[in-house]
Amino acid sequence: MQIKRDDIDKIKASLSITAVANALGIDVQRGKFRCLYPMRHAHGDRTPSVSISEEKGLFTCWVCEDMRGDVFELVKQARSCSFAEALEWLQTEFMSQTQIHGLTSLNKSITEPSIARPVKQAKPEIKPEERMKVVLSFLKRLSVVDGTPAARWLASRRIFKPAWDKMRLRYISDYSALNKSLLSEFGLELLQKTGLYNDRGNLRYYKHPLIFPYLDEHVRSLFFQARAIDSSVVPKELNLKGEIPYPYNKVILNQQPGWVFLCEGVVDTLTMISRNMEAVGIPGVKSFKPEWVSLFAQKKVVLCFDQDGPGREATELVQNLFQRAQIQTALFGRGIEDERLKLKEGQDINDWFNQR
Ligand SMILES: [Zn+2]
Repeated sequence: MQIKRDDIDKIKASLSITAVANALGIDVQRGKFRCLYPMRHAHGDRTPSVSISEEKGLFTCWVCEDMRGDVFELVKQARSCSFAEALEWLQTEFMSQTQIHGLTSLNKSITEPSIARPVKQAKPEIKPEERMKVVLSFLKRLSVVDGTPAARWLASRRIFKPAWDKMRLRYISDYSALNKSLLSEFGLELLQKTGLYNDRGNLRYYKHPLIFPYLDEHVRSLFFQARAIDSSVVPKELNLKGEIPYPYNKVILNQQPGWVFLCEGVVDTLTMISRNMEAVGIPGVKSFKPEWVSLFAQKKVVLCFDQDGPGREATELVQNLFQRAQIQTALFGRGIEDERLKLKEGQDINDWFNQR
């Protein structure tokens, strides 16, 4: 794919680098953020070393030679992806169809087949049955987490074996054998259409070996999230490409009366499931879909998003959606009198349960 210099400049001019950083899950405070390579810095870059220039659309780490550049570079670094993948991601996240129409080279090369539709509803290149077959076959080839580095990682977060088994957590213990066996059974083209393989022809989850399947009521999973257990890997989580069909642990949304906890991220959800609490999760605060509200019929919902800016914003939004459907909501920690027991600024559910 050839993209013109001029179009790249137009895209850059239309984007706020701070907004892009936020969408990548990077916490920008007063124009600065922590380096994506904290291991190269003293104290894991506790005092952020990367500065953002909103006017120039650039970021610069004062320590790392290679941690600097424009929005494209930022997406490439944060998602460990190619330029083409960064462009695709920026389009899906930020650009309206009208904007894409304004770009001469992109018009032909990327959007031609689905030109009349918004980017997000572009016709899938693969039939749902076919995609399901590949995803299920992928999951079947993985190991249980017992005895793997993921087991230690989960246990350190006080998520134990009953929850691993119940939610069928899986681990990629031999990446190259898995890569080969998938390629020989399905071929690269199909694997790329399914979203399991990147455009360099490799299975995406080299750095994200812990797999969280999203089970449905038939204990099948049509979707999963992959998680890095090495804390220096950014982003920490990778979604399977394509639509998120339903929330994590949707099985408990059984149209029977009761309370459920709605968490941000699988780790927080597992933290509650480990304590025999009825919890469902969404991959990130921005991923709750209005059409999921009906799944919560008869339930009362405790919102447990992170105690930070995006978490509070999402709480308000989701609370409104439930209110309109006359579903009662409460906020996690409300009514707790003791200040020390409240969800503190920047805390998530896993931090809260594991403090002291
Ligand atoms: Zn750095």
